[in-house]
Amino acid sequence: MKDEIRICNNISENENGELMFAGVNTLELAKKYGTPLYVMDENRIREKCSAFRDAIAENFGDKGRILYASKACSFKRMYEIVGSEGLLIDVVSVGEIYTAVRAGFNMENAFFHSNNKTDSDIRYAIENKVGHFVVDNAEELDALNRIAPEYGIKQKIILRITPGIDPHTFEAVATGKVDSKFGSAIETGQAEEITAHALRMENLILEGFHCHVGSELFEAPVFIDTARIMLEFVADIKRSLGYSADFLDLGGGFGVKYIASQPTLDIKKTIGEIADFSKKYCKELGIEMPIVGFEPGRAIVADSGLTLYSVGTLKTIPGYKTYVSVDGGMTDNIRYALYKAEYTLAAAGRLNEKPDMKCSVVGKCCESGDIIQENILLPSSISRGDILACFTTGAYHYSMASNYNRIPRPAVVMIADKKDYVAVKRETLADITSLDI
Ligand SMILES: *Cc1c(COP(=O)(O)O)cnc(C)c1O
Repeated sequence: MKDEIRICNNISENENGELMFAGVNTLELAKKYGTPLYVMDENRIREKCSAFRDAIAENFGDKGRILYASKACSFKRMYEIVGSEGLLIDVVSVGEIYTAVRAGFNMENAFFHSNNKTDSDIRYAIENKVGHFVVDNAEELDALNRIAPEYGIKQKIILRITPGIDPHTFEAVATGKVDSKFGSAIETGQAEEITAHALRMENLILEGFHCHVGSELFEAPVFIDTARIMLEFVADIKRSLGYSADFLDLGGGFGVKYIASQPTLDIKKTIGEIADFSKKYCKELGIEMPIVGFEPGRAIVADSGLTLYSVGTLKTIPGYKTYVSVDGGMTDNIRYALYKAEYTLAAAGRLNEKPDMKCSVVGKCCESGDIIQENILLPSSISRGDILACFTTGAYHYSMASNYNRIPRPAVVMIADKKDYVAVKRETLADITSLDI
């Protein structure tokens, strides 16, 4: 097997040059469940949960929290898995709350995000006993303060603050800049304003602050810059408003390796460096260290997933390129269309053959941007019916899947201890019209 393919240790090859994932033969999975198919490695998900959990325990003791950002991959079984690993969760919509509740997740451990919570979203979250709201703006503060007493409660909240950091990542996933639809900026004074406003709200209990600067960060420096700005803000607020924040959520964005040339994130080292800095800086600022939270989404699930496709039409345009069409596309993987996201692909039955054909792998949707990856190398022997694997599709794939062109969404098959089981059924054609009158 080429090193370019071995991007995670759950990827291997058997003696026939066939792709094994989490110890199971992918060709057999494709035969048993059909394609396109999402396959997920439960052991790997649990490994990542415990890597974060251990790193936080080691560095922050009982003053650290890990929240799984469930938008990365949301279905009932995921909430069961992360719940059993002792993680808290982020939810961003009524649909995610509903799914978590149906999975039996303890909603006291849920944090409700979103930059636009309607009154009915707020009511639904309170009725389902969501532990914390991550309040984005003053309008939400007012609405929540007005609605909470209808339920006879005081709602715990943290405030989303914009630290003004540009993490030099994709524009669409950079969320910590001043000019952002999320949160209140420190730089404009709005962060302090909203804190003062929150402290005046009699039906809300302010527990601290939240920020999230971006995605695909592989090292500590951006997190440390963020921690510096946020801890300074905590100290400033203590001075100006006499309020000590108990909780500081530094967000998610931990990077994941999609292609061989990318680094592998060292979770323990990164969290260790952030912790060392934060402890030291709190002393300097003369403030008590708040409970620190992190919200990994991608880093928990991305490399626990792969997608299996069947190859269909192959088309060579002389002087241009070869197109390899697969039986899925932007309906199960929108990330190339959104961000030109990079992926590693392999012909699952031909790992012992040389990838000598330059080609673009495209989907079956009526959209020329329906591309999985351009200009990659696959063996020139591939043909109709072959199985192609696209790696690292555990995060932001199933959760972003659509029914464009009325294409049913793939099943999600989970592998635990080399045994496969269905976590989400394949959508049927009947499902496709189930809401039509
Ligand atoms: C998307 C998001 C996350 C998770 O980001 P990853 O890159 O998947 O780790 C965490 N927190 C917030 C507020 C987010 O919007």
